Amino acid sequence: MSAPHGINPNIPHSARVYDYWLGGKDNFEADRRVAEQTMAAVPGIRESARNNRAFLGRAVRRLSRLGIRQFLDLGTGIPSQGNTHEVAQAEAPESRVVYVDNDPIVMTHARALLTSTPEGETAYIEADVREPRTILDHPDVLSTLDFTQPIGLIMIAILMHIPDEDDPAALVKEFAEALPSGSHLVLSHLTLDFLDKETADHYLSATSKQAMHRTPRTGEQIARYFDGFELVEPGLVAVSEWHDEPLFTEAATWMYAGVGKKP
Ligand code: SAH
Repeated sequence: MSAPHGINPNIPHSARVYDYWLGGKDNFEADRRVAEQTMAAVPGIRESARNNRAFLGRAVRRLSRLGIRQFLDLGTGIPSQGNTHEVAQAEAPESRVVYVDNDPIVMTHARALLTSTPEGETAYIEADVREPRTILDHPDVLSTLDFTQPIGLIMIAILMHIPDEDDPAALVKEFAEALPSGSHLVLSHLTLDFLDKETADHYLSATSKQAMHRTPRTGEQIARYFDGFELVEPGLVAVSEWHDEPLFTEAATWMYAGVGKKP
């Protein structure tokens, strides 16, 4: 693809690397290089990305069946099959979704690809998750979501892009505090917990030289993001286990996944 205005195709970007793993075509040479390098260093990472996509679908469907009709999806990624609004509106056409991403290319694609049922609504804003107030006070957020009714807060494969110095736990807390009781947090996160030491070390040395920053975290660190939430079954588990029917069970797992309910 040619680069849209304002996009530097030579700087690898997480959304496009992820798009490549999911089998999409919205990526450039620099993204494919990082994606392939990472795949070579970390067998199973592509399957983990695909399991993670499946987790998104299953978690959103579960929330829809609990009656949740509104979703705030942080770190949307390039739209591919089975986005939050598609899953939610297939269950309940009146569902309303706001997508948030800070990458202009994601927004370019989102504007073209994110449609909505006539009964529901889909909005997308370009903003940084490190600025929760900007998002929570955004006019499009306020006109799309009703903060007196339960909201599904989706943070799938996003916090690993937030370094410790930006205090990801405090960010989750700030979003969580804005949500009414009965809201749910859907979260997944890169981890090295399920790997043997050799594979984990190999990952760290292979990715430390990459131009794209990611922070793997331990189950203990990730569990902290659910402070103030009650984890629903099956708890905080390997992403392949948050599934009725796991997709790629044979591949190494690189992700934790969990859903929590705000009491
Ligand atoms: N949640 C999606 C995509 C995950 S890829 C899915 O599960 O398919 C991570 C996404 O987070 C990318 O689209 C990237 O652009 C976005 N992102 C990274 N840092 C961000 C930040 N600080 N603010 C907003 N979005 C961010």
